[in-house]
Amino acid sequence: MATLLTNFLWWADMSPRSMLIDGGRVVVSPTSEPLSGGEVFDCGGQVLLPKFIDAHCHILPTGLDLLKLDLSGCATQEEVLDAVRDRVATTEGWVMAVQYDQTKYPGGRHITRAELDAVSGSRPILLRHYNGHASVANSAALSAAGVNEETPDPAGGEFGRGEDGLLNGLLLETAHEYVWERTPKVSREEMVTAILAAGEKMADLGIGMAADMMTGRFNLEDEVWAYREAARRGCRIRTRLYVQWREVFGPKGVGLARLRELEASLYDPDQTRICGIKLFADGAIGSATAAIYGSYSGQEANGPKVSRHGRKTEAEGTSGQLIYSPEKLIEMTRTASDAGYQVAIHAIGDYATDLVLDAFEATGCPERHRLEHAMILSDAQIERIQRLNPFVTFQPEFLMRFGHAYRLQLGEERTSLLKRSRSVLDAGIRLSYNSDRPIVPGDPMDGIRTAVRRPAGFDQTENVSLHEAVRAYTLAGAEVCGDTNMGSLAVGELADYQFLSPERWPDSL
Ligand SMILES: [Zn+2]
Repeated sequence: MATLLTNFLWWADMSPRSMLIDGGRVVVSPTSEPLSGGEVFDCGGQVLLPKFIDAHCHILPTGLDLLKLDLSGCATQEEVLDAVRDRVATTEGWVMAVQYDQTKYPGGRHITRAELDAVSGSRPILLRHYNGHASVANSAALSAAGVNEETPDPAGGEFGRGEDGLLNGLLLETAHEYVWERTPKVSREEMVTAILAAGEKMADLGIGMAADMMTGRFNLEDEVWAYREAARRGCRIRTRLYVQWREVFGPKGVGLARLRELEASLYDPDQTRICGIKLFADGAIGSATAAIYGSYSGQEANGPKVSRHGRKTEAEGTSGQLIYSPEKLIEMTRTASDAGYQVAIHAIGDYATDLVLDAFEATGCPERHRLEHAMILSDAQIERIQRLNPFVTFQPEFLMRFGHAYRLQLGEERTSLLKRSRSVLDAGIRLSYNSDRPIVPGDPMDGIRTAVRRPAGFDQTENVSLHEAVRAYTLAGAEVCGDTNMGSLAVGELADYQFLSPERWPDSL
């Protein structure tokens, strides 16, 4: 039986409209013409718009975090310890917590190994810092991970020590990764529970479809199984998977034939399917590992001297970290592209972006692929992207959450020009917005607000209109994933609509 939705305000112009849907599809798009037929559903004057599409995020990790103890509501060291104590009393095994942040607690003092040991001497306890680069562990967690007083610091990290010279439980950078890698393996059932939990949370934010940008970070076979199973059990969001390159084509990868089998095992392409392959070209700005031309504030350029694309004469310094050599990146991109897959490549810095564009160009079909983040773009690079025409994705919420770290690393001037949405859209480039959760909370309305009105310190001439921002978080998100049947509520599309109460709708922008 068809449904006739009446009495809603269409988001694009706030006009009163109606829409006819049947069998989960749009039969008549939102219109101001009188409609008849179907069972009438009165929408009560709410704003109606297509569901949001979060085309670059991390679904399973979001869900796994939701299953951990959330410390974001704690304001003191005591509150953290009380929350951990409750968790110890009500669960078994490791106690893993997220959103630990000593800067919010009195004196900015870290919780110590001894304090956690007083909560439990036998259960491993691990508190992950909200920035994802540090943790605090108790003695049981350290010993379960094989860390003792004699363990040397890993390269690029540190096992923190107190004034007595003994381990204080603080784990920094690679030392933090070292311990997390030794936590219990996530089971398939836990993965399904996590994906369902993430779907619940994201659907509540109006998201209808999301792309997982690093499928295979735990175990590719298990993850694909879990996404299929979550879909079967009614996951509230549609999922798209971008598989990590090395999990397919690397020495220990499953290989192309197996990837094709895994693809075929996801029986409902509207609900869940494999979209492409994911690669990283560089790191991040906050940790000064994004590969940029020039140098980070107060530092010397530490990378190779190179000539910018199209300017063969003047070589200049670079900084940050390339994950692969330029030649290797081209080769890896071509391998995946030649196998018929869209390739999505993380490139934060402008140097990395040029190398990714080189790689896309070398595939012969640059318009098929996705440039992820592209935080720093020169006018010449925008012209180059316009010419090669790959998809570009931005995460506007980053400007709202990480502005301080960007200023510290890049200085005011370069920071003000991060994420040049206006220039990119004016060049006719296919730009979409997404969250990259769980790095940020990821409410699409936060991203949209930030894109429409960039925070103080960011160039206001790069703002976009509300209409453009919503489009970048809906239809453009569908396009970048190759979904042609969602995102705008056009006739024949999936009827993925949502209501926003007028208070949540930022008409005051
Ligand atoms: Zn990401």
